[in-house]
Amino acid sequence: MKAPGTHFFCLTASVAARRIRASLMIKKSAQKIVVANWKMHGNLKQNQALLETYIRTLNNLPNTQVVVCAPYPYLAQLQSLLADTDIAWGAQNIARMERGAYTGEVSAEMLRDFGSTYVIIGHSERSTAYCESDENIAQKFMVAKKYGLTPILCVGETLIEREAGMQENVVTKQLDTIIRMYGAQVFAEAVISYEPIWAIGTGLAATPAQATEMHKFIHDKIAALDEAAADRLKILYGGSVNPQNAVQLMVVKNCDGGLIGRCSLNAQEFEQICAAAEQASQFER
Ligand code: PEP
Repeated sequence: MKAPGTHFFCLTASVAARRIRASLMIKKSAQKIVVANWKMHGNLKQNQALLETYIRTLNNLPNTQVVVCAPYPYLAQLQSLLADTDIAWGAQNIARMERGAYTGEVSAEMLRDFGSTYVIIGHSERSTAYCESDENIAQKFMVAKKYGLTPILCVGETLIEREAGMQENVVTKQLDTIIRMYGAQVFAEAVISYEPIWAIGTGLAATPAQATEMHKFIHDKIAALDEAAADRLKILYGGSVNPQNAVQLMVVKNCDGGLIGRCSLNAQEFEQICAAAEQASQFER
C-alpha cells in the first residue's frame, strides 16, 4: 500500500512531471484511482477469495491506485491480507463525531486503527436512507481529513433533478456546504465522486458527454475558489461502470478514475475496469 504520507510527495512529483511533459509538448499521463465499494456484501470466505484475486491481478498497477471499501467487520481482514500490497482500503461511512456515547457509530480513529486510508462519505444509499444532511456529511468529511483519511465525497443528482436540469444546482449545494463550513482548500488531497443517483446500480451509466459536463463543473467550481486545491483534488465517476464503458468514462477530461459497486464483486470485471483505468491514464487529464 502507498503510505498516506507519500501521497503528497507523489502528487508533488507528478506536478513536476506534468510541467516537464507540458514543456516538452508530450501528452501527460495521470494517476487514476479505482474504488471498490462492496456495499453490504461478502463474508470472510468470499472476501478472501476476492482479495486473493485482486492481489494476484491488481497489485502494483503502475498508474492506478486500487482502493477497497468494505463493511466495518471486515477491515481487520483487509488489513491482514492487503498490508503488504499496494492496494489501499477503507470503509463506507464514519461517524461525524470523534468519540463518545454514540451507540453503533464507528470513528475515524477506529478506521485508522485498522490501517484504513480512505473512507466513502455521503453515498446516496446512506444519505437517502438515513436522512443525512449536507452539514452532517461536511462534518464527516472534515473528521476524516483530521485523522489522515482520504475522504471520497459522493455528490450527484436524482433522476427528477436531472430531468429538471437541476444537476449543477444540486452539486453546488452539496459542495457549498463544505466550502461554507471549512473553505475550498479542504478539497486538496481529497476525492469527489460524481455519482448521478439514477445511474447507481441501475445499469444505466451517464454518457461520456454528461460526465464531461459535470466533471468540468466540479473542477471549475473548486478551481475558481482555490486553484491549487483543484489541482490536487481527484474527481471520480461512479454509477454503473462496467468493463464495456469504463475506458470511455475514465478518459473524460477531469476524470481521475471510478467508484465501482456491482462490478467490484466480480474479480474478472473489476480487473477489466482497472485495466481500463490504466489505459485511460495514458490520456490527457
Ligand atoms: C456505487 O456503489 O456508488 C456505485 C456506483 O454502484 P454501481 O457501480 O453498482 O452502480
